[in-house]
Amino acid sequence: MPDASQPVVFLDRDGTLNVEAGYIRILENLVLIEGAGEAIRRLNDAGVAAVLVTNQSGAARGYYGEDHILALNKRLVNLLDREGAHLDDVYYCPHLPDGVVEQYTCVCQCRKPAPGLVERAYSEHPQFDRNQSFVIGDKATDVELATNCGAKSVLVETGYGKQVLSGEYQWKVVPDYQASCITEAVDWILEQLSILSA
Ligand SMILES: [Mg+2]
Ligand SMILES: [Zn+2]
Repeated sequence: MPDASQPVVFLDRDGTLNVEAGYIRILENLVLIEGAGEAIRRLNDAGVAAVLVTNQSGAARGYYGEDHILALNKRLVNLLDREGAHLDDVYYCPHLPDGVVEQYTCVCQCRKPAPGLVERAYSEHPQFDRNQSFVIGDKATDVELATNCGAKSVLVETGYGKQVLSGEYQWKVVPDYQASCITEAVDWILEQLSILSA
């Protein structure tokens, strides 16, 4: 078993890597936030794992099938790939407690802020180091995910981030760091990691 020594960043999708656009029914409407590709590439180059963890309740709500969630995630991976950026793994929660499609309607352990997706990542990637772990997201639930899995939290001001900070969306939270966007979030994380290893 490899040593758990690799730093890891758990990344939200909508509003963090791609422009928030509600439930995305048309694949082409998934568009990267400026700088997202470069930010992920910098994590890759620094040997920091970049793992997507995303709530995708569109299937549970009956808006589209689970195959569409997979297609959206694949488009994201392809857009990042074009910028030389790579995700180490992709995890999503298709569930919702009050969904309309029976198959996905349940109280699960993987809908953020529950830590199920992150725990799965740790069990499937034993090299990931919990003591060097971060969550980047635009919602209070992303910040709470970090708390629930012992990671440091970065709230980005893209997507719903500004509304979360002003108390207009979800609820107020205090992240470990507040970043204007993914670029600044990665700047801060790489700085923290260099302090840890100094
Ligand atoms: Mg989001
Ligand atoms: Zn779930």
